[in-house]
Amino acid sequence: PFHRPNYLLTPETLSEERGIWIELEDGRRIMDCISSWWVNLHGHCHPKISEAIYKQSQQLEHIIFAGFTHDPAERLAEELVGKLPENLTRTFYSDDGSTAVEVALKMAYQYWHNRDQPRTNFIAFEGAYHGDTFGAMSVGSRSIFSQVYADLLFEVKYVPFPDTYQGDPDVQEQEERTLWQLEKILSVDPNCCAGIIIEPLVQGAGGMRMCRPLFLQKIVQLAKAYDTLLIFDEVMTGFGRTGDWFAALRAQVSPDIICLSKGITGGFLPLAVTVCTEQIYEAFYSDDLLKTLFHGHSYTANPLGCAAGLASLEILTENQASFKSMEMIHQRCYEHYLDHERISHWRVTGTIAAMDVKTPEASGYLNQVGLEIRKRSLEQGLLLRPLGNVLYVMPPYCTTEDELVRIYQGINQILREIVAS
Ligand SMILES: *Cc1c(COP(=O)(O)O)cnc(C)c1O
Repeated sequence: PFHRPNYLLTPETLSEERGIWIELEDGRRIMDCISSWWVNLHGHCHPKISEAIYKQSQQLEHIIFAGFTHDPAERLAEELVGKLPENLTRTFYSDDGSTAVEVALKMAYQYWHNRDQPRTNFIAFEGAYHGDTFGAMSVGSRSIFSQVYADLLFEVKYVPFPDTYQGDPDVQEQEERTLWQLEKILSVDPNCCAGIIIEPLVQGAGGMRMCRPLFLQKIVQLAKAYDTLLIFDEVMTGFGRTGDWFAALRAQVSPDIICLSKGITGGFLPLAVTVCTEQIYEAFYSDDLLKTLFHGHSYTANPLGCAAGLASLEILTENQASFKSMEMIHQRCYEHYLDHERISHWRVTGTIAAMDVKTPEASGYLNQVGLEIRKRSLEQGLLLRPLGNVLYVMPPYCTTEDELVRIYQGINQILREIVAS
């Protein structure tokens, strides 16, 4: 009884892809409004990145990254450190978002171990998603996706994520409640918490839930006051998504550890990096073998991925206006093209815009309206993939204002049809 819904876009149906456009086998052209699960930054098949990968493949396709290093990895690390908040200086490569988080958790845990002050707890946020491996699942919000493995996950203390939207009257109260709970946990036993992990500014898979930069600033203050490590999972929010290079920069704060993946290669190849402070690095720098961060993947710092990363950074640097100005265009489109009767909780941060579709069913990931929207979106020439009744638009940065207008007009049409049906 394996049921494959027929509205899924299968890889075989993709014949040609350019910019935001995907061409289906039957000749239809649709717009990739979600950047292919949030990894694509510059549109599909950007020639500069293809070229960089091809060139690199003729020089060095892969080499063990233990005892060896290579130019693309070194250059990408340098470039990244140059873009990140000043205190983040030491890079550790891995393969994808989940492994970037695993590395961050191991770093934080072992940091205290190496300093002979063992700490075993992590604090995370309700609604969080950090990946599908066991450590990442453990610090993620418990849900039907992790339920089967519940017994195998380590315990984490959760506090509410004060998500907000335009015109939210309760935001300050919610933030204060979270900060109060967090302070309570930290003050009861200041030596228990190895780190706090958060998706800064936007919780992705949890429903594009957005918080204020001010809240992040307060979290940073608390982490400092109680001497615990702060981990920013910027796997989704990194590389321009929030309207600045990183959510940390947008909120004008610095974590102790940052996790990056998704957009790092512009959406071409899997690659990730976890970057930490000098202080954390020093806790590992020792002749004592037990102080080593024993973690390494076969494809660590893959040269093709690093070459793609370098090319992507170059494109980003040349086109900063593309991700810095999109927030304004989202906002204009919301004001001009959407029927506000059919939606609520409008929110936008940089290139990410989201809204809740009003339905008689309860809100949440399992709300059926998402499937209905997915089906109808192809007819409108759009690739949309709502999270339950949360409809979001997160296009590649090459998307023009006209294309964005078409996306919003299509969405409005879909909303109309759904209410009418
Ligand atoms: C997608 C995502 C991950 C997991 O990344 P994968 O590459 O899918 O393993 C982790 N954290 C956040 C915030 C994400 O959005």
